[in-house]
Amino acid sequence: MIVVMKMSATKEEMDAVCKRAEELGFTPHIIYGKERNVIGLIGIMGNREEAFMLENYPGVDKVVPISKPYKLASKEVKAEPSIVDVKGVKFGGRDIPVIAGPCSIEGEKQIIMVAEQVKAAGARMLRGGAFKPRTSPYSFQGLGEEGLKYLAKAGEITGLPVVTEVVNPFDVELVYKYTDMFQVGARNIQNFALLTQLGQTKKPVLLKRGMSTTIDEFLMATEYILSEGNRDVVLCERGIRTFETSTRNTLDISAVPVVKTKSHLPIIIDPSHAAGHWTYVAPLSKAAIAVGADGLIVEVHPDPEKAMSDGAQSLNPKQFITLMGELKAIALAIGRYM
Ligand code: PEP
Ligand code: MN
Repeated sequence: MIVVMKMSATKEEMDAVCKRAEELGFTPHIIYGKERNVIGLIGIMGNREEAFMLENYPGVDKVVPISKPYKLASKEVKAEPSIVDVKGVKFGGRDIPVIAGPCSIEGEKQIIMVAEQVKAAGARMLRGGAFKPRTSPYSFQGLGEEGLKYLAKAGEITGLPVVTEVVNPFDVELVYKYTDMFQVGARNIQNFALLTQLGQTKKPVLLKRGMSTTIDEFLMATEYILSEGNRDVVLCERGIRTFETSTRNTLDISAVPVVKTKSHLPIIIDPSHAAGHWTYVAPLSKAAIAVGADGLIVEVHPDPEKAMSDGAQSLNPKQFITLMGELKAIALAIGRYM
């Protein structure tokens, strides 16, 4: 349920509503909007009938049930787009930030070199995996904490905020020390213990759609993070599994406009894991910008042929520079900036 406050409502009036909501068994979440503030009442144990009586409280405009299964992510709770700020890089506004870097951090020299290359090309954030969720246990699993240190160093040298994947709840504290944004990978979209733990941290989360996750399930997964108090979630469409085998996954570009009609959260596109091959990365990136994505995450490796993971889908620095130039023109055409 949501309690819609009047434009004139004071902080004291909102506090009184929150206090009563707690007495009724709900967890209140204040969502500050441009036009109006609302208080989301979350919790299955809450007394719904009594909650409607909150309409009589000073400063309250109305109390309405939320019709969607996802609550805090829904547009019913917040009509205007949310902006997620990762150390000054903003997702969800007019800018379209590009995150770039290798699939895996392979060494100090490699990650610093690629950080400098992608920065020079216009990337706003650096990616790199230290814990790799590989399909095969015999594939390279990442450098772990050593890799995180190299990533943080590359971020410091270049001034690029960094994002890296965390694969289980026990690593959250460790990864927190080195990263500016957590990535949750496609294979962990329903690792609810991990999502809950991330909801209790204060760093933004890049949540990737699972290979067979519907958009509603995707949004439900965000609730595990949002309902714990962390509002900084950026969604990422990275391709879903279909009958098509020419590409690694099928990029669902419709996910962008669909998510935007249902949710206020920003959504970016990962063309690399969708394509599976570098030749498709540029056209899919262009489609992503044109369809309204709030950013991109692209795999770039200094020497893709020698990459320890996902080399086939990685751009080399030269290809990335060319792509960035082309994307800027598309962004401008739709009134946005890269
Ligand atoms: C990755 O970003 O390298 C990765 C493993 O992505 P996904 O979880 O989308 O497969
Ligand atoms: Mn990868």
